Amino acid sequence: MADCIFCKIAAGEIPSTTLYEDADVRVIFDIAPASLGHAVILPKTHAANVFELPDETLQKAALVAKKVGAAMVEAFHSDGLNVLQNNGEAAGQTVFHYHVHLIPRYHDDGVGITWKQGSADGALLKEKADLIARLVK
Ligand code: AMP
Ligand code: ZN
Repeated sequence: MADCIFCKIAAGEIPSTTLYEDADVRVIFDIAPASLGHAVILPKTHAANVFELPDETLQKAALVAKKVGAAMVEAFHSDGLNVLQNNGEAAGQTVFHYHVHLIPRYHDDGVGITWKQGSADGALLKEKADLIARLVK
């Protein structure tokens, strides 16, 4: 897509520090990292979010997350790794080219990936579970 920054970075048109690349994806360090080593997996073809992403690319991104994530944990000596991605502005997405965050975590690093625990409405969720089961088929 013409005006997409991640398309340009993935294609190599904008230089980046690349820690992994193959025919389908490029993995770069995030420009504003949440923690030391924070990286993002960028597919080389444009899709705004997970719902637009072809299944094969989604599978590829998951495999790369596992493989490159393991190497990152080793290289940065991190204590853990968050693998996450955001879909839609309300979910925190700011760049509308699908990407997966690889965020190395360190004990007491203060990175704020957390939420306040709420309470569940069992009856509503049962209704929604039945609806979703029908929608997914
Ligand atoms: P999200 O909020 O999930 O859409 O994540 C977008 C991420 O892309 C943020 O963590 C940004 O810091 C990162 N980002 C934005 N522009 C660049 C860039 N030019 N190079 C590397 N990372 C970027
Ligand atoms: Zn793009």
